[in-house]
Amino acid sequence: MSRPVSYNVNEKKLVSDISMAEMPAGHQGEGFFATSLNSVIGLARKNSIWPLPFATSCCGIEFMATMAAHYDLARFGSERVGFSPRQCDLLMVMGTIAKKMGPVVKQVYLQMAEPRWVIAVGACASSGGVFDTYSVLQGIDQVVPVDVYVPGCPPRPEAIIDGVMRIQDLVGKESLRRRNSDQYKALLESYGIQ
Ligand code: SF4
Repeated sequence: MSRPVSYNVNEKKLVSDISMAEMPAGHQGEGFFATSLNSVIGLARKNSIWPLPFATSCCGIEFMATMAAHYDLARFGSERVGFSPRQCDLLMVMGTIAKKMGPVVKQVYLQMAEPRWVIAVGACASSGGVFDTYSVLQGIDQVVPVDVYVPGCPPRPEAIIDGVMRIQDLVGKESLRRRNSDQYKALLESYGIQ
């Protein structure tokens, strides 16, 4: 006798929970829709961010939960986690970074292609956290520019998702020319990056 099979999926709910990416601002008429190239590229980029998790301690465990089925970072188009910096555009630093590791974080950042973004996840990556000691970097922004800081020790997965959504806002609105601007070059130069 075969066992009855049940699926833990409510089809109706599944369909109603699927949402479409927001349309960028533009002009539409019968049979056409016009918008700026900036908006289209921003829309594509923000919904296909490839994270590189640089996890050194406890905050990395929260990231594992964030990637798993319950919190499901894939909903934001970010399920493609990469460990080759050349194929990723979001560096997520999670955990205590010892001063010895600072140059390694910087090297990974340098190996990423532009445009690239950085999230400091948790108190340690943001400010050294409780480790106000001679051996711990007091925030990764001492070696690379950071776009979003996620507070908490550790931050819950909801907070990490909020950080990714803040990055999505930045990515979606970023001008295609920002990376060529004098301001951006000056920012990199302040970190000794050409
Ligand atoms: S912020 Fe707290 S949980 Fe995260 S790595 Fe530091 S000590 Fe661990």
